[in-house]
Amino acid sequence: MGIDIRSMTLEELTAALKELGEPAFRGKQVFTWLHRGVRSFEEMSDISKSLREKLAGVYRVDGLRTARKQQSQADGTVKYLWELSDGNCIETVLMQYHHGNTVCISSQVGCRMGCAFCASTLGGKVRDLTPGEMLEQVLFAQADSGLAVSNIVLMGIGEPMDNLDNVLRFLELVNHPLGLNIGMRHISLSTCGVIPGIRRLADLELQLTLSVSLHAPDSETRSRIMPVNRAYDVDGLFDACHDYFQKTGRRISFEYAMIDGVNDAGWQADLIVKKLRGMPGHVNLIPLNDVAESPLKPSRRVRQFQQRLESQGVAATVRRSLGGDIDASCGQLRRKAMEQDRKEREA
Ligand code: SAH
Repeated sequence: MGIDIRSMTLEELTAALKELGEPAFRGKQVFTWLHRGVRSFEEMSDISKSLREKLAGVYRVDGLRTARKQQSQADGTVKYLWELSDGNCIETVLMQYHHGNTVCISSQVGCRMGCAFCASTLGGKVRDLTPGEMLEQVLFAQADSGLAVSNIVLMGIGEPMDNLDNVLRFLELVNHPLGLNIGMRHISLSTCGVIPGIRRLADLELQLTLSVSLHAPDSETRSRIMPVNRAYDVDGLFDACHDYFQKTGRRISFEYAMIDGVNDAGWQADLIVKKLRGMPGHVNLIPLNDVAESPLKPSRRVRQFQQRLESQGVAATVRRSLGGDIDASCGQLRRKAMEQDRKEREA
């Protein structure tokens, strides 16, 4: 197993190497190699063999193994199912947009938020991912695909606010000039609405884009499809969003998966308009991805809903769906793999 060295900051690494009797610059050297995505200490060619062996005795650098890979014929989207060092699986999606290559990473193994439409939460949460495991998703997706990553979205499996310490450290790592050096403005973090997390993030005044999974503007509907709403009500959530905007000056993006007969009524569009007043939000309408285990069906009123928002001055776009032919959304590949494993065990 070994210690997850990719979770360490440059300062920690430098201190650890100093204890091994190494000069200060060695920390920078090792950090740089790690963030280039090496999978073994052997690859660190300007580090002495004896130090490489010492490091390999304590630390590990090959945390993720490709369990499955799917590539969309239609749009080039690549989806990875990784096996972690403890045998758990997570997903990463790499999408090619005109503004650059975007990698969508997981922040936890599973999720405990229980949203009714989401495949990631079906088996509950297994554990949090380490900062190094989040970083490796970016590094290894980039290395495998040969596509340089310019944007990161924390929208894969898991609730980032439920693992915020590790997520913040991950952000520090990918932001580092000796590492991937990806600017905060090129990073989005999506939450189902964990208010204390939003407030904590606001205090840090990072320049990243906050996405809030709204999915319903009224408490009754939202509690029905998103249990988190029972702990953190949608009105408190909008207050936190308004404060977030005041503090950071950053426009928030609201995710809204359109579900037939549940959240696609005209009055719900009107309520969104009302609750967003005073804040330049952006609503991202997502045609619901059909999850086999769920009775919820995609809405047929997406365009009408969009027009109703836009006509009242709220920016609304319909998300272009990538990777439809490869189970590219939220936990579907992991579910499928788990299901197959179960069948094989039973057979
Ligand atoms: N836990 C975080 C981030 C992961 S989910 C969050 O809730 O925001 C990324 C986005 O996909 C969220 O907006 C989520 O609500 C949405 N989503 C999940 N299942 C979906 C489905 N079946 N169809 C459309 N969007 C879905």
